Amino acid sequence: MSHTDSARTEQIRANLTAARARIEAACHKADRDPSEVSLIGVTKTYPASDVRVLASLGVTDVGENRDQEAAPKAAETADLDLTWHFVGQLQSNKARSVASYADVVHSVDRAKLARALGDRAAAAERRLTCLVQVNLDTGSQAGVIGPRGGVDPADAPALAERIAEHEALTLGGVMAVAPLGADPDEAFARLYEVAGRIRDRYPQATVISAGMSGDLEAAIGRGATHLRLGTALLGSRGPIVG
Ligand SMILES: *Cc1c(COP(=O)(O)O)cnc(C)c1O
Repeated sequence: MSHTDSARTEQIRANLTAARARIEAACHKADRDPSEVSLIGVTKTYPASDVRVLASLGVTDVGENRDQEAAPKAAETADLDLTWHFVGQLQSNKARSVASYADVVHSVDRAKLARALGDRAAAAERRLTCLVQVNLDTGSQAGVIGPRGGVDPADAPALAERIAEHEALTLGGVMAVAPLGADPDEAFARLYEVAGRIRDRYPQATVISAGMSGDLEAAIGRGATHLRLGTALLGSRGPIVG
């Protein structure tokens, strides 16, 4: 292992330790057991070598938000037996590719996409866990910073049903991104309520994917079961292109 490889490993190890400390503190405050909260390392813009570093440090779940980047990275690290999470907005014409490597798709926000993913997963003889992405933008905020994806909370149970009824899909639960500039605590409280409505009908749909590097404490306080952490583990990404 070269010097830069080991330096990068130590940097990521320190970031991971700090992130786990934040998770433990937030769980303590919320009177929750840290084992209820899973960490997903979001590796977008970072190379496959960082995926290997995360895996070597015990991270079993990784996430990406663009198929063009995720597909080659998943292929390069196929030997690691990681669980791959697709967390970005998704066009139906990418469903075949995503269904070939993803284990969990967090960003299902319309029935057409659910059907495309299910049909492609069935053709590949795979099963996909899907989460209903809920749009937590309210009134005046909606559209100002561009669509972040997600179904209207009122329409979430119907979409959950579309997922649950597909033979190749497993309904996992819900996912959301806190709206920019909004109070994440308030937003995640609404997500928790939507999650409860879906769980009343589908008790096994227990996943609440909420919380990123900047708002994981609020997410844990509002019942998150999965955190999607990019910058907290790998560093800031700089300007987003594309
Ligand atoms: C990039 C991304 C993350 C990770 O965000 P950080 O702020 O870097 O932790 C989480 N969820 C989604 C949907 C993302 O696109």
